[in-house]
Amino acid sequence: MGSTSVRPIKSKNRECGNCSECCWALGIDELDKPQFAKCPHLIKRGDGEGCGIYGEHPPTCQSFMCGWLQADDKGMDHVPKEFSPLATGIVLHVGDTSPNIIHLTESRIGALDTEIGKQFRKWARRKYGLITSKKWYIKSAKRD
Ligand code: SF4
Ligand code: SF4
Repeated sequence: MGSTSVRPIKSKNRECGNCSECCWALGIDELDKPQFAKCPHLIKRGDGEGCGIYGEHPPTCQSFMCGWLQADDKGMDHVPKEFSPLATGIVLHVGDTSPNIIHLTESRIGALDTEIGKQFRKWARRKYGLITSKKWYIKSAKRD
């Protein structure tokens, strides 16, 4: 990777940069990693975090782009810059089973109930209609 980026993934206008929020929020089947838990391969790198097995990370990780990152590429309305996963602690992604369902998943405990989290939910409901909000429910997996 060469930088602090977890995944040097770019869309037309955005890149992951220092963000690693999906490495907390998402379940990764290939790694038996549950949602809301730190990926064991996430390591300190510079001022941020990086993937310790980058290049050999599982297909789920390789293909994942959150809505904030890929909105333009998928023809979705662009998720406002201020609602980035890093700024909000919330990862927006399209449903696996139905592309009509937008998930807002906490990558930090309580993120959906913060002021910016409420604004994000309001914006998403207005834009997409059908959303689900997944709160960080495994208290023992609290971020350090
Ligand atoms: S949450 Fe989005 S912006 Fe952050 S690392 Fe994952 S794909 Fe990149
Ligand atoms: S394997 Fe790498 S990219 Fe995948 S969740 Fe873990 S740290 Fe993130």
